[in-house]
Amino acid sequence: MKRLSCDVLVSGAGPAGASAARAAAEAGAEVIVAERRRVVGRPVRCAEYIPAMLAGQADVGRDYVVQRVEGMRAFLDGEMIQDMEAPGCVINRDVFDQAIASAAEKAGARILLGSAAVGREGGDHGPVLLQRADGEETLVDCRVVVGADGPFSRVAGWMGLPRLRCLPAVQVRLPLLEPMVHTRTYFDDEYPAGYAWLFPKGEEANVGVGMTRHPGGGGLAAALGRFAGRLAAEGVVGEEALGRTCGWVPVARRETFVAGDAVLAGDAAGHAHPITGAGVFQAVMGGAMAGRWAAEAVRKGDAGRLREYAREWEDFYGDVLVRAQSRRELWERHRGPVGEIIRTCWVGFREYYT
Ligand SMILES: Cc1cc2nc3c(=O)[nH]c(=O)nc-3n(C[C@H](O)[C@H](O)[C@H](O)COP(=O)(O)OP(=O)(O)OC[C@H]3O[C@@H](n4cnc5c(N)ncnc54)[C@H](O)[C@@H]3O)c2cc1C
Repeated sequence: MKRLSCDVLVSGAGPAGASAARAAAEAGAEVIVAERRRVVGRPVRCAEYIPAMLAGQADVGRDYVVQRVEGMRAFLDGEMIQDMEAPGCVINRDVFDQAIASAAEKAGARILLGSAAVGREGGDHGPVLLQRADGEETLVDCRVVVGADGPFSRVAGWMGLPRLRCLPAVQVRLPLLEPMVHTRTYFDDEYPAGYAWLFPKGEEANVGVGMTRHPGGGGLAAALGRFAGRLAAEGVVGEEALGRTCGWVPVARRETFVAGDAVLAGDAAGHAHPITGAGVFQAVMGGAMAGRWAAEAVRKGDAGRLREYAREWEDFYGDVLVRAQSRRELWERHRGPVGEIIRTCWVGFREYYT
């Protein structure tokens, strides 16, 4: 079996893992990233909206931007109930992820594609076992592990942490018939504790549905079919599907995402927003924080320094997640019409913040 060693082993080269790898390498650590996929960022499982400020924070140029958006409009039973400023961009998410991964490589991180991190030999602090699809195995000795391996994080399991509650989402790419500078979210009793969306992407749109239960019959795919059909009947989108995707959005925060010599970042850490499901911003910001503190722990020879990552994250974003989690619990308990509760449970309404 092959054997490698490094200071920081990162599992996953999504925005969280690549940002962690870049920050740790820039701080002088020797970094290896194991990525299960053969190509970073593909297939895309995202509606591809990011807030404008993230483009500056990510610091990887702007080649991934497809169009700017000015705000977000919310609809209840077909009527617009909110028109909120939310400057941002709709992006080519694969190009974005690849740009961060390239920046990590430029900083000195080594990315092993097609390599899944599948276990730790001898429990805590043991070397991490990587496995390729052809069965080749490699053991990696390291001083810190960063789990940036998405909502069903294996690293979280090694840390003894529970699986996160996730919500399923499906999406179709459709021709957009008129240019649009707003993202749209749609609330309806057909989408319990969830919503449908239309995010404009140049001449196309990402149109999707994510929710907890399926009351309308036929499940999530049928709900998406009905939603896309309504948008087509209104003349907003065309009918010909240009692509489909699906995925899982974590809708619960974690109390703990640091243990021993391991930390979690991004979706693995439960940092996605439990109400909106958005998580790219948090993955980039939290990933970079995790990487900086991982390098610091290596430099000081003290895994205890990793707890500073949790403190910094809680100062930065903890309150947002605590509020969103409480609103999600309320939304999921609610059995009446969504109109009764939407202002308390959706971001941007005054009632959400009181
Ligand atoms: C349908 C859908 C639409 C969304 N739309 C938006 C949106 O518009 N805006 C937004 O901000 N967020 C959106 N999100 C959420 C967003 O995609 C995630 O929050 C974001 O991808 C989190 O980044 P991450 O790096 O933590 O995880 P990921 O992007 O999931 O990256 C994890 C990486 O780890 C790899 N991996 C997994 N297991 C292993 C292993 N054992 N070993 C090695 N590698 C492994 C995976 O292959 C993957 O590359 C959406 C999610 C879904 C499902």
